Amino acid sequence: METHYAALGVPEDASADEIKRAYQALVLQLHPDKQNAAINPSADAADRFLKIQRAWETLKDVDQRRQYDAELKDRSQKYIGPIDADVDIDEMQYDEDTRSFVFPCRCGGLYVATEANLEVRNDVAPCSTCSLRIRVLYSIE
Ligand SMILES: [Zn+2]
Repeated sequence: METHYAALGVPEDASADEIKRAYQALVLQLHPDKQNAAINPSADAADRFLKIQRAWETLKDVDQRRQYDAELKDRSQKYIGPIDADVDIDEMQYDEDTRSFVFPCRCGGLYVATEANLEVRNDVAPCSTCSLRIRVLYSIE
């Protein structure tokens, strides 16, 4: 499900000002009055416009935004993605830059196990793009 932030194309820590500017820019692009149905027959645009409108209604209000942020946080904490596979650390690639072990996910993304997590025995590596996770099999020397 797309978050209100994604709908407006802003980061979750965007300032009220950034949110407002993003909203205004999108409205200019997508307002139904500005759509020429003959050139641009676009039920998608109308749908998109509604989503943006809804996102804006929530995020422009400090209290509503705070509540929405809490819901998002709650959702991400409650959601435990399935463990897709057990992967031996020897099969993973080590990335020096991020000090992480990575393994390709079937979605095209990468499972990422940071060294810091592995050191504290957090052996579940989430995919960076989908909700799947793997368990990393390793032993600390
Ligand atoms: Zn994935």
